[in-house]
Amino acid sequence: MLVDTHCHLAAAAFADDRDAVLAAAAAASVSAIVVPAVDVASFTAVHACCQRYPGCVAAYGIHPLAVQHASDADLGHLQKWLQQLPAGSDRPVAIGEIGLDLFIADPALDRQEHFFIEQLKIARACDLPVLLHVRRAVDRVLKQLRRIRVRGGIAHAFNGSRQQADEFIKLGFKLGFGGAMTYSGSTRIRRLAASLPLQAIVLETDAPDMPPAWLAGGEECARRVAADRCLVGRPARHGCRRSGRRDFGQRARSSASVAFDWPIGYVSA
Ligand SMILES: [Zn+2]
Repeated sequence: MLVDTHCHLAAAAFADDRDAVLAAAAAASVSAIVVPAVDVASFTAVHACCQRYPGCVAAYGIHPLAVQHASDADLGHLQKWLQQLPAGSDRPVAIGEIGLDLFIADPALDRQEHFFIEQLKIARACDLPVLLHVRRAVDRVLKQLRRIRVRGGIAHAFNGSRQQADEFIKLGFKLGFGGAMTYSGSTRIRRLAASLPLQAIVLETDAPDMPPAWLAGGEECARRVAADRCLVGRPARHGCRRSGRRDFGQRARSSASVAFDWPIGYVSA
């Protein structure tokens, strides 16, 4: 059983084949999927997606690349949205996707930081982990995480150094690995995924972005991680034990624990 900790399943790109994508994920042993929002306009679609598909759980937030068309009213909307969701199956597993992106031209850093900081405060107030988008901004993100202590989360599509990974781990975060590590030139990131503590890494597809080299999805990424770590077989037993303690089949409602306490899962050899 595998958890895809980052999949934009509510995106319009899946409008025509969402059912088929879910069926393919289930066939590949993916039984829980974290579906992050990117702006307030996407909240309803994320919610509907997670209501419809029992294995999906939601994260709500404003993506750093969406802050250009966001306003402070959107931060208020996020707070209200979180308050109005009843407890139980509607509760999101995280605030996300939030963060900083300095890869783009003209990144409007002040504006990005404003939205990032305010959403960290919301996450802290709600006692929710955060799903982080970080590009060329690892140290800036870490600086804010040290100031505003949230309940951990995931640095998704992690691409930093070992030292930066250790800083995230110290702050209670896990590092997300996915399609990017499957390309022939991605030796550095594969070495990183192979050397980090197993409990500190999680898998993601980041679909529909970042497809793996062979477009085959999560299980293949899991096999790659496991092969690099020489772990096929051993983590399977570990994973079986853990999955026995939690019922993932019903709804991925072990919520934060599914996505945030779950390591790479196991790879059935
Ligand atoms: Zn994303």
